[in-house]
Amino acid sequence: MTPTPGRTPDLEADCSRCFGLCCVALPFARSADFPVDKAGGEPCRNLLADDRCGVHDRLREDGWRGCVAFDCFGAGQQVSQVTFGGVSWREAPETAPTMYAVLPVMRQLHEMLAHLRDALALGPDQATRVGLSAAADEIALATAGAPDELLAVDLVAVRSRVGGLLRTASATARDRRRRRDGIRRPPRRVRAGADLVEADLRGQDLRTADLRGALLIAADLRDADLRWADLLGADLRDADLRGARLDGALFLTRPQLAAART
Ligand code: SF4
Repeated sequence: MTPTPGRTPDLEADCSRCFGLCCVALPFARSADFPVDKAGGEPCRNLLADDRCGVHDRLREDGWRGCVAFDCFGAGQQVSQVTFGGVSWREAPETAPTMYAVLPVMRQLHEMLAHLRDALALGPDQATRVGLSAAADEIALATAGAPDELLAVDLVAVRSRVGGLLRTASATARDRRRRRDGIRRPPRRVRAGADLVEADLRGQDLRTADLRGALLIAADLRDADLRWADLLGADLRDADLRGARLDGALFLTRPQLAAART
């Protein structure tokens, strides 16, 4: 897997230190992303005994697009090596249900941690910096907890708090960039949470736009300028990003990019 620029190793998937957890714990349904149905807790038919993927070299060609797009943000190795101390679900099947339940919790915590660290790199004001640092420290501490502590984390509350901090850091950074480069605000319809499914945004200047949570499914973004746009949680499935400029885009993740046309 190609490292994400600026991402620390603890938040990068390291499949060599994971028990193939995403290939066992998570369910998927036959669709454009997967060729078969699989229930949560059932090992994928392609998972080898050494926890490697038997079709790793031809995932996309064989219809496993969802696997290409998935990013655990380093949650897999954290659950395998830290939470469960290096003892696999194969060696201790009685721990498997708990391990599978912990994985999505850890993944969300790791994703938030990655975004908080990205936000700290944006040069936020002092108050926001303090808030971001405190949240990052608390989440990092939570990721080291025991399984029952992880399952007790109030993810809704944590997400709400983190979301507010990221919003503030993003707005400050984008305002600063707008003033510095004389960037005009994007069109009104280009806004957070907007329904832009199949929208024609080809070649548009969307620098510093707030597109967090926007539905950009199958949107035409060819040659669009998305530098410093906030793309937190934007749905980019099948969006056409060929030729688009994305350098400096905020909170853009590998799964978002993998789901788009690039
Ligand atoms: S196809 Fe490979 S990567 Fe995808 S779930 Fe199965 S074993 Fe894992």
